[in-house]
Amino acid sequence: MGKERPKEVVAEIPSILVLEPAAEQRKRRAAGVEVRKEFQPDLESIKTHLKEIRHHSRDNHSVLLEELQRSLGQYAGLKLAIASDVKQAASYIKEIAGGTDLASINKSNVVINEIRPELEASGFKTYIRYFTEFKNIDKFERKVEDYWALPGLHERGLVESFDIAKTVTQLNSSEVRDYLAILGVNAISAEDGFAFFLQHMSNISKDLQQARKIVLVVSLEKVVQDREAASFQTRSMGIFGLESVLLDLGPKEIEGYDFESLPILAGGQDRELHVLILDNGRGGLVSGGYQDLFLCIDCRACARQCPIGLHLVKKGWVYSPKNYLFGFLQGWLPPTEACFHCGRCQVECPVDIDIPTLIWRAQLEHYVRHGRTWKKRLLDNPELLAKLGSLTAPLSNWAKDNSLLKPIMETLVGLHRKAQLPAFHRQTLRKLIKGGSRG
Ligand code: SF4
Ligand code: SF4
Repeated sequence: MGKERPKEVVAEIPSILVLEPAAEQRKRRAAGVEVRKEFQPDLESIKTHLKEIRHHSRDNHSVLLEELQRSLGQYAGLKLAIASDVKQAASYIKEIAGGTDLASINKSNVVINEIRPELEASGFKTYIRYFTEFKNIDKFERKVEDYWALPGLHERGLVESFDIAKTVTQLNSSEVRDYLAILGVNAISAEDGFAFFLQHMSNISKDLQQARKIVLVVSLEKVVQDREAASFQTRSMGIFGLESVLLDLGPKEIEGYDFESLPILAGGQDRELHVLILDNGRGGLVSGGYQDLFLCIDCRACARQCPIGLHLVKKGWVYSPKNYLFGFLQGWLPPTEACFHCGRCQVECPVDIDIPTLIWRAQLEHYVRHGRTWKKRLLDNPELLAKLGSLTAPLSNWAKDNSLLKPIMETLVGLHRKAQLPAFHRQTLRKLIKGGSRG
């Protein structure tokens, strides 16, 4: 008789791993600007491996989802829920909130863009701790900005590595406070349910340590094969999204909340971990013509490069072109009219999503159903705009650069007030050549 293999003991909860830039925040703050030049990853091999992970995740999403549910089912200290849309998600969170209406949310798209409006409609007060932390480092802000603003980080090999800064393997904590932490995971392993986050400040670590109830929100595309893939994807999000951190440094009209002023609860062991799997239209993407959106890792490299700034929206949150398109396809954002298909978002995308073509397709489908607005007709006719601009130069140049007229142009035509338009010249190339042949 063969020996029976001892049963593997499954922990109470799956490990939650938080990755941070390898040069620690504290060290950087104390020392000013510091970049690890010795770490120069081969970006092309990173992209190749990342694409393999993402294609596997997209092409096997239903199998991976089943596997994830099986894996999570093994952990006795975790409650699992599945929501097909944000209404269901918010109502589940309301049900488990246990009387508190205070929630700390992270900066993930699925939480901020999708669930947050529903949470607020059902009476929750939600705060993004990350932005508050940025506000609190005013005197270091310039240094942080200098650091992240280094031009051409990739080309110069100045890319940070991202290491695991914190691993949570159990819920016990001596600092528990009465609030909810609703955190969109950056990647999760189907094989064992290990969840990964990337943080540039300390908000996620604090929430994992302090919130009485933690809800990990898993959007379908974040489910990957195994721990290695989840870790790799999270690191890649940091590497390719490095410069997009600048998007968070601008002035924020965001109300902060000091979670650390809440009293520490006695008997802090009484905590809950929930995993909420959210579809919210993603399943439909895979069967429609937009399946490549499923490849996105939410690094926001495309948001940083998009010149029109349409995706810079109110309340201090910057949509990436991909998330803007997703919101439009789901019906909660207006059409992406101002995109002029320059292709910069695609060039920056580490997984080569052809966002301009997808936006094009979404626009066409929309205009076939609803017709084009006058704004769109105007933007679709750059030759007419150029002719008008040239004919009226230098008046047109004065108007396009006038700080009082820019907001009006933004409202009327949809071009962001910070967009840099080219200068118009009365002397066109054609006239110049004619003049040259005469002269
Ligand atoms: S193609 Fe459109 S969305 Fe992409 S960077 Fe250009 S303007 Fe922005
Ligand atoms: S679409 Fe944008 S956010 Fe998504 S992976 Fe590509 S660059 Fe990153």
